[in-house]
This record gives sequence, structure tokens and C-alpha cells, in this order.
Amino acid sequence: MNLPIFPGSVDATGQPATLGVMGGGQLGRMFVHAAQRLGYFTAVLDPDVDSPAGRVSHHHIQTGYSDAAGLAQLASLCAAITTEFENVPAEALRALAASRPVAPGAAAVAIAQNRIEEKAHFTASAGVAGVSCAPYAVISTAEQLRAVPADLLPGILKTARMGYDGKGQVRVRNMAELAVAWAELKGVPCVLEKLLPLKAECSVIVARGWDGRIVGFAPQYNVHVNGILAVTSAYEGNMPPALAQRARAATESIATHIGYVGVLCVEFFVIDDGSADGALVVNEMAPRPHNSGHYTLDACDVSQFDLQVHALAGLPLPQPRQHSPAIMLNLLGDMWLDAAGQARTPDWQTLLALPGTHLHLYGKLEARAGRKMGHLTITGADVASVRAVARQAAQVLGLPGLDCLG
Ligand code: ADP
Ligand code: MG
Repeated sequence: MNLPIFPGSVDATGQPATLGVMGGGQLGRMFVHAAQRLGYFTAVLDPDVDSPAGRVSHHHIQTGYSDAAGLAQLASLCAAITTEFENVPAEALRALAASRPVAPGAAAVAIAQNRIEEKAHFTASAGVAGVSCAPYAVISTAEQLRAVPADLLPGILKTARMGYDGKGQVRVRNMAELAVAWAELKGVPCVLEKLLPLKAECSVIVARGWDGRIVGFAPQYNVHVNGILAVTSAYEGNMPPALAQRARAATESIATHIGYVGVLCVEFFVIDDGSADGALVVNEMAPRPHNSGHYTLDACDVSQFDLQVHALAGLPLPQPRQHSPAIMLNLLGDMWLDAAGQARTPDWQTLLALPGTHLHLYGKLEARAGRKMGHLTITGADVASVRAVARQAAQVLGLPGLDCLG
């Protein structure tokens, strides 16, 4: 493998150093922005003509993720390739890896895209990571359904594959509801997770290089509304320090345990176990930058997307430094719709007059309820002023999750 790939370089055939990404959503768009700022050319593979990343990339290959010709074109254009969503077929990543450095690799992505494998991995690494996942059972057959231990109920039934933003999940109180829910999910392989008493949720983002070196950010404190991330708080004191340290260490162990290369996000629950801090439980991982890390663009000297570029290209991984406390508010399509479902324009005039607001819209033209259209990061000199502006911003935009802003 010809690493590092220096930005601005030209290969023997006269081709400028180009980095590729599988998937053209907002995460891909922010990767493209970070890569281009360094001087790389970029290529995006996404079937959608209007994909947020495709619109800003030098090259946009509009084919399916398994299309052999599309993959061959991506490989011929790019010196290295990453991914921006976990449901890229692992097979496609394996094919690309035959001729190009690919990070994260197919094996790591395959674990993250299947909750059954993910939980098996968390269980296997629990000893070194010091954190376990929620008690669960695999349900792939009617026999496994019948054998579910009663103490997993009430629980949440989750499809093993393709779930995101709370999709593919059903809360069940008893065996009868479980059977109905599994039938509704068409009997696909699932996991049943015990419903835990959550005190809070947090996530940790790290980047691991080809050489095994790890850098990362302090844990983010996250609030979800209807299964979708609504608010991320990132500042010192956002959670008990001992818990934050444990979450960061666990994430590093998990990344090392799979020999991960690239940016990895691990989501945790903080559960009420009677102690003052609560206990950590690992929820899931994302083999890519994460919505809860968007604040790093505006509040840190190196963002999660910068780290994704560095890790992929084999450049040194600088330890990021957060220079401002930050709160991120997700902007969902609901904001563009009034109570009657008619289109409306958010009050940008008032919003953008607020100090320390950084608006990021992803270039999606159609607003739909629950669709991630953009985010707003608020930075400031101190936590109190950031919280005050975040409260005002959430009020102006009519956003949920306000309770956590005090
Ligand atoms: P997704 O892939 O949709 O993000 P998650 O497994 O992270 O799926 O679940 C989405 C949200 O649902 C979590 O962030 C949490 O708020 C809630 N949730 C998920 N599993 C549990 C659980 N076992 N106990 C309590 N709440 C849960
Ligand atoms: Mg999640």
C-alpha cells in the first residue's frame, strides 16, 4: 500500500491525489469538505443524483454500492477509500481493498452493521474494555423466540441489520407483544435487549491509524428524542469525570480489539445502578464519524472529519484540542413544516443574530419529518453562555430536547 498519500501530490499517471468515500450523505459531505480543504481531490459513490456529498465532490459515481463497474471506477480514481455509513455492503469494501487501502476495513464494518455480531464482539471485548452491553438474546428462529428468558422483558426488539435513528425497533412488555413484534418485523434476525433504566447517554469518538496510534475526543453527552439524536453537549463537566474516563478507555480497547483503522464512534448508556455516577453500558458502534461529533468542526482545532482524512491517507494523527465549550442541536425536517404540515421557512434572521451560532445545512432540498437536514453548533467563552444561547436558538427554531438545556 502506498501510504501516506500526501495532499496535493500527483501520481505517475498525472492523477491528483484523490480520496474516495462510499456513500454520499451529510457525513460524506463533511468528509469531502475536510479532504478538499487539505488539497485532496475527492470521489463519492452514491446512486442518488442529489446526494449531499455528490454535489460538492470532484467526482460523483452514480451507481449502486455493489455495482462492479462503479466500484472499479472508484478504485481507479482514488488512492484510498473510506465509508460514511455502516450499511455499505462489506463485500464492496473487500473488493475495493484488493487494489486500494480501505479504512475502516470490511471486517470492522461487517461487525458494526449487524447487531448480533456487534454484541458478540462487545461481549468478547468486555474483559479488556471493562464495559458490557445490555443483557440480550438473539432471535432468528421461532425456537429462539420461545426460549427468550423472562427477565429480558420488558425489552426492545431490534432488527440485526439496517436499523438507524430508532428505526427497526419495537418496545415490548411481554412474550405476547414480543411474538407480535417479531412477526411485524417479518421474522428477520433480531436481538431482544432488556429495557434499561437510562440516566443518560454518551458517545466517544476516536481515530486509530494504520500504525495503531489512537487519538480522540472527550465523551459527548447526548439527548435523543423519538430515537433520534436531538442535543449533544460537549464541554468539561458534561458528565462525571470518572465515567468519562472509563468510556474513553473502553472505546480505545474496542477499537484496538478489532484492529480498527479510521474514525470510530461508540455509544454508551449510563444506567442507574444506585451509585452516584451510574454505570456504563455499551450500546452500539458506528464505523465512521458520528452525528454527536459534528461540534468538533466548530469547537476543536481538528475535527472528526479531519481525523478521518488523516487516518485514511496515513498522515500523522494529531491529538485534537477543544477550544470552546459547545452544544449541537440537530435540525430535522420538522423545522421546515408548520403544525398543518405546510412548508415554512425557519426564522434564520433571528437565529443567525445569536452569538456563536454555526449553521450547517446539508443541501437536502426536500424536508421530511425526522430527516436530518442540518445541525447548529453553538460555541462561546463559557458553558453558561453556550447553554443560554442554545436555549434561545432552540426556542427560535421550535426544537425539542429543551429540558436538558436547563
Ligand atoms: P439506532 O441504531 O437507531 O441508534 P439504538 O440501539 O442506539 O439504535 O437505539 C436508539 C435509542 O433508543 C437509544 O439511543 C436509546 O435512547 C434507546 N434505547 C435503545 N436500546 C435501549 C435499551 N436497551 N434500554 C433503554 N433505552 C434504549
Ligand atoms: Mg444509536
